[in-house]
Amino acid sequence: MSETEKITIALSKGRIFDETLPLLAAAGIVPTENPEQSRKLIIPTNIDKIQVIIVRATDVPTYVQYGAADLGVAGKDVLIEHGGNGLFAPLDLNIAKCKMMVAVPKGFDYQNAVYQGARLKVATKYVKTAREHFAKKGVHIDLIKLYGSMELAPLTNLADAIVDLVSSGNTLKANNLVEVESIMPISSRLIVNQAALKTKYKDLQKIIDSFKAAIKK
Ligand code: ATP
Ligand code: MG
Repeated sequence: MSETEKITIALSKGRIFDETLPLLAAAGIVPTENPEQSRKLIIPTNIDKIQVIIVRATDVPTYVQYGAADLGVAGKDVLIEHGGNGLFAPLDLNIAKCKMMVAVPKGFDYQNAVYQGARLKVATKYVKTAREHFAKKGVHIDLIKLYGSMELAPLTNLADAIVDLVSSGNTLKANNLVEVESIMPISSRLIVNQAALKTKYKDLQKIIDSFKAAIKK
């Protein structure tokens, strides 16, 4: 099998890897190692020509866009920030589900601040999502880009509000923050390199079909 016929699947460690395993299994694909235990970034599978690469969640669309990976699994949050150029996203996999929302410190009257037309300082990793959300509401914001631990921003007066993902809400609660607005539900999608979909159509379509049949509603 020549190198060009390899099928490469980009996944991130953690929940996306774990929740994609059953879908891979449905396609007859079983990685030979677990990235939590192995330091390998390229993980072979039981099928010679199929390999999994382990990349940062936000880097998955980039690998697939440039064809360094043929397939990938990425959150809607990540896909919105990336923009989706060069990507085909045929399936909502209904995994890694959470919600994009606005949160503020308990006691901060968000609705009133919005009503008064106050300029809000908003800290987030999701600048595009935040910009679009507040533009739609007609709220002026100063965006502060962060790379993690957004919850800390309002507690240290770096920001008035955050835009972040929430699932259980435990992290918000533990930091005395409350959700004041829901922006959108989030789940992960299968993404496919558009050129590869043509050149490796048979192999990729087979995987896409198996994933599709295995999605839990
Ligand atoms: P890191 O945690 O290493 O900084 P990350 O936050 O980008 O990276 P993960 O936490 O593994 O990576 O999240 C990967 C994807 O899973 C996100 O892009 C999002 O779609 C989804 N996700 C994030 N947080 C949650 C959550 N609390 N519950 C369910 N899904 C989530
Ligand atoms: Mg995370």
